[in-house]
Amino acid sequence: MTVSFYAELLSNIQVLRATIATDESVETTSFTVKNNQLWQEDTVVVDLTRHGLQADPHSLQVQAKNDESNHGDRWIYQLKVNLQRQQQTTHSSSSVQLGNNDKEWWTAKDMIGLQWQQLQCRHCAQILVENKNNNLSRCKDLPSEHWYELVECWICHETKPEEHQARMRPILAQHGTLLVGSFYFLIHVNDLVPLSIKLDQELANQINWERGTMTKWISINCNTCGKVIGEGLYECQKDQELNMLALKLYKYCLTIQPNPPELPDFMNFVVGDMVDAAKVHATHRFVIQGKKSSRVYALVWLFNWDTTFIYNDGFKDEVDDMTGKIDFQRGMKILYMNTKDDDQLVKKWNHDKTTDHLIYPDTYCQQLVKSLESTTNILPPSLRTMNHPSMPMTKNFSVGFIHRK
Ligand SMILES: [Zn+2]
Repeated sequence: MTVSFYAELLSNIQVLRATIATDESVETTSFTVKNNQLWQEDTVVVDLTRHGLQADPHSLQVQAKNDESNHGDRWIYQLKVNLQRQQQTTHSSSSVQLGNNDKEWWTAKDMIGLQWQQLQCRHCAQILVENKNNNLSRCKDLPSEHWYELVECWICHETKPEEHQARMRPILAQHGTLLVGSFYFLIHVNDLVPLSIKLDQELANQINWERGTMTKWISINCNTCGKVIGEGLYECQKDQELNMLALKLYKYCLTIQPNPPELPDFMNFVVGDMVDAAKVHATHRFVIQGKKSSRVYALVWLFNWDTTFIYNDGFKDEVDDMTGKIDFQRGMKILYMNTKDDDQLVKKWNHDKTTDHLIYPDTYCQQLVKSLESTTNILPPSLRTMNHPSMPMTKNFSVGFIHRK
């Protein structure tokens, strides 16, 4: 008999809640916890020891549930078991607080340790920056993206704010220095391999140089494969030619030579962005917006920072041969809505000051939505959407998660 399994553990309450589906009706008493394993009759559903969890075997509660979903040929059971607080283990989530030990990727220290030689386009390996003969040996971390906001906030309480403001200048790229931001490298234009990138002309044509700042950040693409690679800081010269001064290369669009031990993907940086925004703005709501199109791809509500997900492939759609193999992931539980431009809710969120906008290249916004949808697909159908009367803001939102390392 196949047993489909999905469970969530919220770190703040040490309770594991599981949904199980079987293809035959079974007695609720056929579920037991023995040797720290959850059994259905004589089948081990999940071995909690393997995932660093310790269950209280006497706390197991099982409830049969009428399946309201379209999996009409299956029987659904809800299980709840208390967990004992864990000592520190590799999978322990008790030490995880908001962002405190979220991994930072490719810091200045990492780059120095790696003795990096090249930054390449992740798609086509075009060399973008070379550290030949250590011409870029200086390497420094930049302050957080929210640094200016924080400083401004602090200046408001000073007696002579204008003095401080005069000293505040954007951190400009320096020739011969690799400046390292949370999700990008800031590079002086003279350190770029000539002709390795090109300006997104379509976007550049839309810019009104009469308005706003003298210099503007415009998307840039890899010159070889045409994929987005970062953004360049441009000034418009008297002859209307655009002159690049500096550029940001997004870490998730790059590989480094020699290869670093880990290759973070775009979703790893989304975690960092959300954690940062939540720390500074105390927001849990995000509008995911495309850089080029300005289209809103998704509305995201951060439901829980630190959730552990334990599941097999039993609830997935379109799985022909279920393996029953248990996966274990730590992540953020997310409520999201895949949006269309005319959506009323998008307008509402757009005008709400407690909402943060996360702006990414359009192709990465699409990747984010796909990634969330693939996690929704792991959930039992009845848990895939949030429709709780106490949460009208997220009516019909989908439930998904973002993996945290
Ligand atoms: Zn490329």
